Amino acid sequence: MNLSSLVAGKPVTGNGTLRVCNPWNGELVGSVSQATRADVDAAVDAACGFTCPLSRFQRSEVLERTRSALEARRDEFARTITSESGLALRETRYEVGRTLDVLRFAAMEVLRDDGQIFSADVSAQGKARKIFTVREPLRCAVAITPFNHPLNQVAHKVVPAIAAGTPLVLKPSEKTPLVALKFAQLLYEAGLPGEMLSVLLGPVGDVAESLVRHEKVEVLAFTGSVAIGKRIAGMAGYKKLVLELGGNDPLIVLNDADLELAVTLAAEGAFRNSGQRCTAVKRILVEDAVAAEFTERLVAKSRDYLCGDPMAETTRVGTVIDEAAASYLENVLEEAVVEGARILAGGGCKGALFHPTVVADVPRNCRMVVNESFGPLAPILKVRDLDDALELANATSFGLSSGVVTRNLESATKAIKRLRCGTVNINEVPGFRIECSPFGGVKDSGQGVKEGVIEAIKAYSFVKTFSLPW
Ligand code: NAP
Repeated sequence: MNLSSLVAGKPVTGNGTLRVCNPWNGELVGSVSQATRADVDAAVDAACGFTCPLSRFQRSEVLERTRSALEARRDEFARTITSESGLALRETRYEVGRTLDVLRFAAMEVLRDDGQIFSADVSAQGKARKIFTVREPLRCAVAITPFNHPLNQVAHKVVPAIAAGTPLVLKPSEKTPLVALKFAQLLYEAGLPGEMLSVLLGPVGDVAESLVRHEKVEVLAFTGSVAIGKRIAGMAGYKKLVLELGGNDPLIVLNDADLELAVTLAAEGAFRNSGQRCTAVKRILVEDAVAAEFTERLVAKSRDYLCGDPMAETTRVGTVIDEAAASYLENVLEEAVVEGARILAGGGCKGALFHPTVVADVPRNCRMVVNESFGPLAPILKVRDLDDALELANATSFGLSSGVVTRNLESATKAIKRLRCGTVNINEVPGFRIECSPFGGVKDSGQGVKEGVIEAIKAYSFVKTFSLPW
């Protein structure tokens, strides 16, 4: 598959070629021609010089047509993601399903009027007038996306921008650029004007950092690691920022939990998508009295998560993104063992394959659970009671999401009030959401600006207020 970076829908050739290899077997999957700094300026100028001519109805139609086209090519898109990311096919089919939802919800949302009306004669200082609000597109948006949901992360940036009528320049992960470019092609074929979307790959300094610093860009939406997110915040200058960064989400299992449910949620939360979700379960905090039984059942459950060839129908856990990521996981695991943790299942890596791993007696301050470990690791930490669990859950620089397994309403409401993070899911994995509900974190995970289709449309637009005599 030979693809090109795209400026306003047109291929560019200028800055060498990016090769994309399959993390499972190292085979070349495709290549992408890279953009230059001049291409960055051309893409931003094309966006800034363009006023979207499509009505709300026409934007909704473009999104609906894209949804139908993606539905028809669902398996092909899933296979593209699997071959460039190493994620198991069952996960990438699920991801395409989520993207279909993004398109459906945005196509519906764009038809909904988003204005407000205020009577201005409601105060002694008022007048016989009415004040109205309308949302208007911004001049140019930039989006930078990570590798772990190569299609859905891209959709969560591009689709709301189209709904808002705001032209966007996308810089997808260089590890997974192929599906992003194929998705752009679907949008153009569905009637999206080229100027509404450019997709640029290339050296970080030439492309990503030039976009971040660009003075004409009005909104920058970034999803990725804390380190890069903070670097971007320091570089971006005067523009609106939407930062969706890393997570270290806890699953709290209390004494009164339905243990079967708790074990299922722990395994699904820790192992799905090869553990590479910002909202994966990265710490399992279990009350003392049930810790032994929970651990035994999780070890048994982990055997269901067959790990291997990502294209095989029976595989539930494919590779992580590359060998370096697998070695990192092995290192933090070895360190934890030196500090007293016990590996009860999995633990080994081969190339980019890292087996689903259950670790017990994990010390609270080891690197594996203090930093974000992005892979199929299920570290179990014992806690004394709910207060201890909440304190430990909050004792992290992250604040993305969380899950609590309990049958007690009082414990559930206390957890919802006390956990300092963007989402609390009772009897669910931290990652549970639908594509239009507000999503995003606080602390190092984000600045409290939410994504999800409805919130993202707001981020890509501004409110204009006007008033009339009435
Ligand atoms: P990453 O290393 O931060 O990369 C993310 C994107 O930033 C990539 O497109 C990358 O480009 C680009 N980038 C790298 N250096 C840059 C720079 N100096 N200036 C501007 N852009 C730069 O993250 P990742 O490893 O791809 O993704 C995993 C991380 O994303 C995890 O921390 C995960 O928790 C987080 N995440 C968060 C959410 C959320 O909603 N909160 C969702 C998904 C993932 P290259 O590919 O060219 O390096």
